[in-house]
Amino acid sequence: MTQLLLETDAVSKTFGSGKNAVHAVREVSLSLAQGEVLGLVGESGSGKSTVANLLLGIETPDSGSISVEGRPVGNWLKEEPRVYREVIQAVFQYPIAALDSRKRVGWLIEEPLVVHGRGTKKQRVARVKDLMSAVQLDEELLDRFPYELSGGQAQRVNIARALALEPKILICDEPVSALDVSVQAQILNLLLELQTSHQMSMIFISHSLAVVRHLSNRIAVMYAGTIVEGGPGRDLVDSPSHPYTELLVQAAASSSSNREGLVSTISPEGLPRSGCRFVPRCPLATEVCSNGEPELVMNSQSRSIRCWHLDTT
Ligand code: SF4
Repeated sequence: MTQLLLETDAVSKTFGSGKNAVHAVREVSLSLAQGEVLGLVGESGSGKSTVANLLLGIETPDSGSISVEGRPVGNWLKEEPRVYREVIQAVFQYPIAALDSRKRVGWLIEEPLVVHGRGTKKQRVARVKDLMSAVQLDEELLDRFPYELSGGQAQRVNIARALALEPKILICDEPVSALDVSVQAQILNLLLELQTSHQMSMIFISHSLAVVRHLSNRIAVMYAGTIVEGGPGRDLVDSPSHPYTELLVQAAASSSSNREGLVSTISPEGLPRSGCRFVPRCPLATEVCSNGEPELVMNSQSRSIRCWHLDTT
C-alpha cells in the first residue's frame, strides 16, 4: 500500500473580518503519497499559495487539520519546528529575491547545513559541491552574489538550498513563472529528475495547467479557495469535467494574447457570496447553481468534481 505522507482535512483560512473578510482557503482536503507529485493549479487569487503557506507553517489554519507522517503539523511546529523544516522544504517564485543579496552562493547553499548542525566544515564544503553538481551549477559560481546570477542560476541555488537537508516533501510554488521561457523547461526537467532520484514527494503549484501536467501524477484544480476538480494528471487535462478546468485547458492551448482573455486574477469582490462561486463565468450555469454550493463528489473514475450539472456516477 502507498504510504501517505501529508494530509489536510477540511482546512480553511480567512484573512480580514466582516465585510472585508477574504475566504482564501475553504475546506480544502488533500493528500500526498510517498514519491508522488501533486499538481495544484488555478489562477492568481484561487488560494493555492495560501495552501502552500499553511503546509509550511507560515500561516495557521482557522479550522481543519494538517498532518505530516501522521503527526499534526500544529504540534510539530510547537514542539520540534527544526525537525519539521527538515521534512518539508520549499522553492518559491522569485529566485533572486528569495536569496540574501549580501551572501555568496557557497554560503547560501551551506547555510541550512550550518543552521541544522550538519557535518564539519570540510564535510559541508564537500556537500555544497555535491549539491551544486546535482542542480547543474558550475562551481565557478561559488563566490558570486545573487545579483550576479541569471534567474535560472538563482533558482538552481534555491533548489540546492531546499535539497540540502534531504526533505521528504518539496513544495514548489510557481517556481518557473518568473523565469524566461527558454529556461522554464530546464528547471522543470531538473525538478522532475531530482524528485525521482531523491524519491521525494512534491506539491507543484502553478497557474498553468500545461506546466502542472508536465510533472504531476495527480492534479487538484482550485477556484475561489476550494478544490473544484481533482484526479489523475494526464487524464484530467485530456478530458476535463468541470467548466473551470475546461477553461484552464483552453488557456493552456491558446496563444498568449488569447490566454489573457480567458484567465486573469480572481478578485474576491467579483465572487458571489453564496452558491457556486463560478456562476458569473460559467457557460453551463442555471438557477440551481446560485442556490447552494455543490459538494466535491468522487465518481467511479477516481475523479472528484464540484458541480451541480455534472454526472458524478
Ligand atoms: Fe457551472 Fe453551475 Fe457547475 Fe458551478 S455548479 S460549475 S455554475 S454548472
